[in-house]
Amino acid sequence: MPKWLCVNPENFEGQIKMISENFNVIGFKDISTTTSIKNRLIITFDDGFRDNYDNAFKILNKYGVKATYFINPSTLAGQSLWIHKIYAAAFLGSIEDLVKKLGISGDLPTVKEVIEFLKRNCTYPEVEQKLGNLGNIKVPAIYFNKVQIIEMINGGMSFENHGTSHFPLTNGVDLNEEVAADDLLEKITGKKPEVFAYPFGNPESFDKRTNEFLLNKYSYICTTIPQINYSGTRVMGRVCSYEMKPEKLYLKLVLGY
Ligand SMILES: [Zn+2]
Repeated sequence: MPKWLCVNPENFEGQIKMISENFNVIGFKDISTTTSIKNRLIITFDDGFRDNYDNAFKILNKYGVKATYFINPSTLAGQSLWIHKIYAAAFLGSIEDLVKKLGISGDLPTVKEVIEFLKRNCTYPEVEQKLGNLGNIKVPAIYFNKVQIIEMINGGMSFENHGTSHFPLTNGVDLNEEVAADDLLEKITGKKPEVFAYPFGNPESFDKRTNEFLLNKYSYICTTIPQINYSGTRVMGRVCSYEMKPEKLYLKLVLGY
């Protein structure tokens, strides 16, 4: 996972401790039923990384707070997401090789830039085709498995849909296929997903059409646009936490930036 989106376990514990002391941590299903709306906060994780089980789950339990995990159900069926195939290919070879094999060109010195290039300039079917040129890339076992998910559900955690492709939904993605992932998720969790988190979640990864489509199927959809969500909001923003001191995260959460 890119470093800029990570937090080490010690720092994460400090952040969760601060959250448990200052906020009323709820789940999406509690939004309509909690009477006190003061300082309500929902903790979310994206992509179903195994370290969310190995590290985060224990810490959340210790402080008695719940979280929602947005996962791509295809990863539970043994598939790797396109972004992680790109990371793995770059790790096993070189960026120059990767760029050459993908048949793209430009000033692309880092994996992040390669991924941005593909998101901006290709449709999802084109990216899938380009990935075929990379051969059989071995991505390490970085995702949750079904057994871990059941354990986490029993511990009060929730699982919701993060799509099938993990590609910006505005760019050649079949929306019906993205939500079809619900079936697999429901088979494992025993609960129909009610929330969808946009892959990437920035303004380029969704639009009015995708919002309308998803709001017909889900109670809430999540972006990564930083904001405070007021009552009645169904397209929610999120404040991103990464490697930062609990005090700084507190300010970000209170101010919504
Ligand atoms: Zn994601």
